[in-house]
Amino acid sequence: MLELRSDTFTRPTPGMLQAMFSAQVGDDVFEEDPTVKVLEEKCASLFGYEAGLFCVSGTMANQVAINVHVRQGDEVICDQLSHIHLYEGGGVAANSMAALHLLQGDRGRITAAQIREVIKADNVHYPVSRLVSLENTVNKGGGACYDLQSLRDIKALCLQENLALHLDGARIFNALIETGQSPLDYGKLFDSISVCLSKGLGAPVGSVLLGSKSFIHRARRVRKRLGGGLRQVGYLAAAGIYALDHHREGLKEDHRRAREIAEVMKTRPEVKEVLPVDTNIVLFELQPGISAGEYSTQLLAKGIRVLPFYESSIRMVTHLDFTDEDLSKFKSVMTSPD
Ligand SMILES: *Cc1c(COP(=O)(O)O)cnc(C)c1O
Repeated sequence: MLELRSDTFTRPTPGMLQAMFSAQVGDDVFEEDPTVKVLEEKCASLFGYEAGLFCVSGTMANQVAINVHVRQGDEVICDQLSHIHLYEGGGVAANSMAALHLLQGDRGRITAAQIREVIKADNVHYPVSRLVSLENTVNKGGGACYDLQSLRDIKALCLQENLALHLDGARIFNALIETGQSPLDYGKLFDSISVCLSKGLGAPVGSVLLGSKSFIHRARRVRKRLGGGLRQVGYLAAAGIYALDHHREGLKEDHRRAREIAEVMKTRPEVKEVLPVDTNIVLFELQPGISAGEYSTQLLAKGIRVLPFYESSIRMVTHLDFTDEDLSKFKSVMTSPD
């Protein structure tokens, strides 16, 4: 089976398992797990932050961050395709009692001008605009990346309007390797970032939330409240450290393979349009009359697992366990007569 549904299907490599097996651990609720501390400090210094907080998932890291940034009745401004809106179980409402103002960006990327237009005036009728949340790369935008100038414009606006700025960086390492941007630039721009270790980097579990010392201090309490205070979690943090040390460069290869997949899909008669491929996500739309569910079942019969996205779109994602050999197999299946 060729697994292209998500970059979360990777399994730990032997080296990663060894690192987990030999980790030094302690009780992290008492802040006594040395391996968790190494991971948190490593991520924080990579991006230029004072502190980090290990979370079990990207969803938890985002939800903790939003909960620290907003008060009930406040408003979060984000794109309509955002993970925090679509895929976190209504968590912004349920956990933080905040509203979302959804914008329609370009493949999930919003601009300072769009944000400026919807920031609410100080008027009792309105929610208080408190936070802007961006995603990079944008999952539902087919892995689209922001350029640095757009982010700087948004930061300038947030400073001027006294809004906090959060980044859902589930695939930030894909964006960094593709654009050549420095992680230190991100530390200067965002009040908080959630960085995922279990997507392209191939760790089994984990995200790290980054911010100032006082932000992370408050985030630690929220994480505990949500049930995310873990004990000897250094075994998992060790996988994250290993992933940061060994799996960042390989993302470039994932991107190349994704582009090759896109080229193949462009030749298929049942495909109407393939979105531009910026990173490791290939999104395409099927011809009218072909449903995504049907098409994915056909591919499954040929040994290819893909994800139906909307009614008539399909997502394919390359990852650490999708090799050049798998790519050759993919090409031969997709180019052979049915
Ligand atoms: C996967 C993902 C998350 C959440 O990660 P989980 O670890 O699955 O909770 C958040 N944001 C984006 C953009 C994602 O793709």
